[in-house]
Amino acid sequence: MSKEADINKVVRQHLEMEQFFTGFTVKTEDRKQKPALSEVEGTEDGILPTRGGTEDREIRFTTHTSQDCTDKKVKELEKIAEEVRRCCQCGLGSSRINAVPGEGNPNARIMFVGEAPGADEDAQGRPFVGRAGQLLDKVIVACGLKRSDVFIANILKCRPPENRDPRAEEIISCYPYLQRQIEIIEPEIIVALGAPAARTLLNTNKSIGQLRGQFHEYYAGLGRPPIKLMPTYHTAYLLRNYSPENRRRVWEDMKKVLAELGLPVP
Ligand code: URA
Repeated sequence: MSKEADINKVVRQHLEMEQFFTGFTVKTEDRKQKPALSEVEGTEDGILPTRGGTEDREIRFTTHTSQDCTDKKVKELEKIAEEVRRCCQCGLGSSRINAVPGEGNPNARIMFVGEAPGADEDAQGRPFVGRAGQLLDKVIVACGLKRSDVFIANILKCRPPENRDPRAEEIISCYPYLQRQIEIIEPEIIVALGAPAARTLLNTNKSIGQLRGQFHEYYAGLGRPPIKLMPTYHTAYLLRNYSPENRRRVWEDMKKVLAELGLPVP
């Protein structure tokens, strides 16, 4: 494909992306125009009252957690991030610019898990900041959420050279960091983006096509309740295969996540 055709494709995708995902948000509670109660009255962040209903139900974007407990979680997550930044357990430690431990709300109800950092993430040390990340941001906003409501991490914390697939030994050495992050955050739902994330978290070899669209269970360890896990297509895959059907599939998966959490479904 010529460079010009390539740029045209990217611009077209970008415009379609704007329409497709932001189109849904118009129908949802617009949190930019109507600030959350917390922002108005100084109550705990991430809580909106339902409007117009007879039930006195609140819509929670994050879990109810005391300040002490939140502070403890932040400290523990920062400790893991420090370990990740110093980690040289596999070869990726020597080729990275920055490790990408993950970021977000320690009290998130939804945790997104991707595959591994790409070039943009490696350069910035932050997850999902390139084109796939911009599309993930659109998905999050379309859900009526903000990026700061969720936690975003990857199976691998360092970029594989040339974005090659993660190797088994890399996953084996890196996975415990993610397991510990999940244990601390205790999200109600994990959204696994793409096959490597879904397969690793569910310990299966099934294809993402077989796995997506229904809830599975992630086992967080003995004595801990399983966490619901929704596999869906990775946003990088979506960019490469930008059909209305694929976008619709991701959106259907996300609507199931919102319904399960009792959040408004746009
Ligand atoms: N793709 C991923 O899987 N993770 C990122 O952080 C960015 C792109």
